[in-house]
Amino acid sequence: MSKPSLRSRLFFSHLIVTLLGAITFITISKVFSPRYFVIFLEGIAGPNIALSGPLRRDLVQAFQAAWNRGAYWSVIVGTSTAGVLSYLVSRRVVKPLIQMEDITKNFAAGDWQERMPSQEILELDQLAHSFNRMAAELQNVEQRRRDLVTDLTHELRTPLTIVEGYLEGLSDSTIAPSPELYQLLVRETLRMRRLVNDLQELSKIEAGYLPIDTKPTALHPILSSVVQRFADQVFDKEQLTIILDVEPDLPLVAVDALRIEQVLVNLVGNALRYTNQGSITVKAWQVGDRVWTAVSDTGIGIAPEDLPHIFERFWRSDRSRARHSGGTGIGLAISHRLVELQQGTMEVESELGKGSSFRFSLPLAP
Ligand code: ADP
Repeated sequence: MSKPSLRSRLFFSHLIVTLLGAITFITISKVFSPRYFVIFLEGIAGPNIALSGPLRRDLVQAFQAAWNRGAYWSVIVGTSTAGVLSYLVSRRVVKPLIQMEDITKNFAAGDWQERMPSQEILELDQLAHSFNRMAAELQNVEQRRRDLVTDLTHELRTPLTIVEGYLEGLSDSTIAPSPELYQLLVRETLRMRRLVNDLQELSKIEAGYLPIDTKPTALHPILSSVVQRFADQVFDKEQLTIILDVEPDLPLVAVDALRIEQVLVNLVGNALRYTNQGSITVKAWQVGDRVWTAVSDTGIGIAPEDLPHIFERFWRSDRSRARHSGGTGIGLAISHRLVELQQGTMEVESELGKGSSFRFSLPLAP
């Protein structure tokens, strides 16, 4: 059995209220009005004039007849007016809900353009606003999902094509097997694995599933441990030094230590990858209620036209694509989001051929 609609429920509930009001009015008036009529009549006649029985009966009957006719018409006119009004009100309440349902059907069919207009009734207007906000957010997620799939297919196709080409060559003996060739194949598969791992992390961050456990944390030990870890790799590059420069008495920051370490590893790792000589400096200092950390290098730098894209996922400059095929272009996107999730901001400054400086701010621990 189908459930009654909201419109008919509203209409009938209004109608029932009106009818109950009318019935109460009629019953009470019918019982009390003749009595009051007699009392008022006696009051007008005064103590000296006695109303005879038949006269009194005629008067009461005439009053009742007049009252009945008046009550009959007032009930007819009153209930019909109330009925029409209740129909109009129910329609006004239900119309935006039906409209909302139609829009959600369009959303399900992939059309995300339509939005709810503002409403006269305050609560419905608030509902329409929340609905529109939710729609915008869903549209955003849907767009990001489509972009991600496009980017991902593009990024996976390159290593897959390379591996496939070589494997085919090996299988029909047009390419001779060699240790270098197998190393190249291993590198390409490693690249795919890195891509998949990074992607998993990024999707968790973007979907908001990544737990961020902020606690009052001292930055200095984290910075030193990351710098120490990379110092060993710097030994390979003779003309490169790595410097740690932390302001003394740096206050505690409210962050998730593991996530900050992850950001630092990405920034210092990049600096090392794109710098052959000079220095990499990791610096931390306080400005007002924020602590800034900067990772600066004297490496290849980033072109001004590339800077606005640097935090986009899968973005790599053509120069770095040509020079280092190992990157996935996801690291900075992850770092940027991780800093934002910890109420910070990340910025970059760079000059081609001179070097780059990535810095991010973090809030002080309360
Ligand atoms: P990748 O894994 O490719 O390094 P990232 O997201 O970490 O991915 O970096 C994106 C791109 O930004 C890099 O491919 C490179 O072109 C550029 N980049 C990042 N850090 C630096 C740096 N310190 N110096 C020069 N270019 C950099």
